[in-house]
Amino acid sequence: APLLAVDDLVVEHRTSGRPPVRAVAGASLRVGPGEVVGLVGESGCGKSTLARAVCGLGPVSAGSITFEGEPVTPLGLRRRRHTGVQMVFQDPYTSLNPRRRVGDQIADGLRTARDTTTSPADLLERVGLPREFAGRHPHEFSGGQRQRVAIARALAARPRLLIGDEPISALDASAQAQVARLMRDLAVESGAGLLFISHDLSVVRLIADRVAVMYLGRIVEVGRTEEVWAEPRHPYTKALLAAIPHPDGMGVLPAELPGDVPDPAAPPAGCRFHPRCPLVMDRCREEDPAFGPVACWLHEPK
Ligand code: SF4
Ligand code: MG
Repeated sequence: APLLAVDDLVVEHRTSGRPPVRAVAGASLRVGPGEVVGLVGESGCGKSTLARAVCGLGPVSAGSITFEGEPVTPLGLRRRRHTGVQMVFQDPYTSLNPRRRVGDQIADGLRTARDTTTSPADLLERVGLPREFAGRHPHEFSGGQRQRVAIARALAARPRLLIGDEPISALDASAQAQVARLMRDLAVESGAGLLFISHDLSVVRLIADRVAVMYLGRIVEVGRTEEVWAEPRHPYTKALLAAIPHPDGMGVLPAELPGDVPDPAAPPAGCRFHPRCPLVMDRCREEDPAFGPVACWLHEPK
């Protein structure tokens, strides 16, 4: 059984007087123990909303999420949040308490996991920081070091699933690959799954066993990382991989693709990618290819 199973997840954001926005519009995803899954896509495609739902931090409108075979309910997760699933956020400047020593913040996680044998210094050592840094405050660290502290704090609770929501995008280029590799190594070593959300395709290629590509609330392609890179099948994945290398990662679609990401409040009918797809056919404008592993009429399962 997978560690995490997300099936046909729908998350709608409602604002009064406006049509609901489907930030996640029927997404399915699996993460196994010790497996690293990279979730990629342009900003606003629903990656963070999906992650928040998995952590029990956001609403679920339809579909299901199960963790270790049990349905995820807001109440169940509130209890589980500090042990089973841990999240590392984008900004290590705001996710740590500036007024407390980092050793004390890591100790909170150890207490919730009832771990009396590990010390905060042990965890700092595991993330590549000197043991004596436990007595320091967050402002005494660089961005990369703070993110290492945030990872140590997440690990203290002994998660079986670690989620990184753009955990490297606020870091210097030199720290990005190091922190990504560290998360991968620590997750694999402890048998935990890792869902690594990023818009940096090169880093995802470096650490992920499988990659899931998200577009306008849907996962449009999922596959083994090396296979997706060798032979991307969805036209959107092809466009992402063909994107001109960008100093900040990929982030943008190549110039040949017309149009911007459509408004999620009024998604296109049929295939959501059809207004931008170079291979669009008549049926794509009316019929929604709501299937996997490649949600495209050119790759309909037999
Ligand atoms: Fe393009 Fe049609 Fe495939 Fe959508 S279903 S990606 S429009 S070919
Ligand atoms: Mg986001």
